[in-house]
Amino acid sequence: MTRALIVVDVQVDFCEGGSLAVAGGAQVARRISELVAAHRDRYDLVVATRDWHVAPGAHFSSAPDYVDTWPAHCVAGQPGAAFYPELDMAGIDVVVSKGAHAAAYSGFEGNADDGRSLDQVLREAGVDSVDVAGIATDYCVRATALDALAAGFDVTVLSDLCAGVTPATTAASLQELESAGVVLGSS
Ligand code: ZN
Repeated sequence: MTRALIVVDVQVDFCEGGSLAVAGGAQVARRISELVAAHRDRYDLVVATRDWHVAPGAHFSSAPDYVDTWPAHCVAGQPGAAFYPELDMAGIDVVVSKGAHAAAYSGFEGNADDGRSLDQVLREAGVDSVDVAGIATDYCVRATALDALAAGFDVTVLSDLCAGVTPATTAASLQELESAGVVLGSS
């Protein structure tokens, strides 16, 4: 088995103090860093995705509904789009950016700096199994895990290394993922 870790959107704006802060985001950053530092040998590849918005249209709103529209966040090149400082980038092999010109919840909608899709990055590394962790459980983690499953990977969501926008949508998302065939695991 060749396994990758996909670290979803552990960015300044999604952690405490950010423009779209998710409670627990900073702790997720620390705990993912601890996992990678202690158990890097579990993974043949570690990928970090990031929301990287240039002009995402109606994804941003001055009157957001926090379902389909959101306060401005993760604007490309701005401090809020940076990876959270407590996410240790030393163990991360590839960064995948998504959402330049439209909402993109799934990392599979993004591209590495060299233009490869996340699917290509994983397949070229021979990956057949992925662990997914990060922010937010009920949006980008959910979408990334579902796309990974649809692409044929074995998928585990490390639910103790995720943070969600609301408790209700987080619980519903985890249930949906499990019903779809995602394994709910822990670090
Ligand atoms: Zn976004």
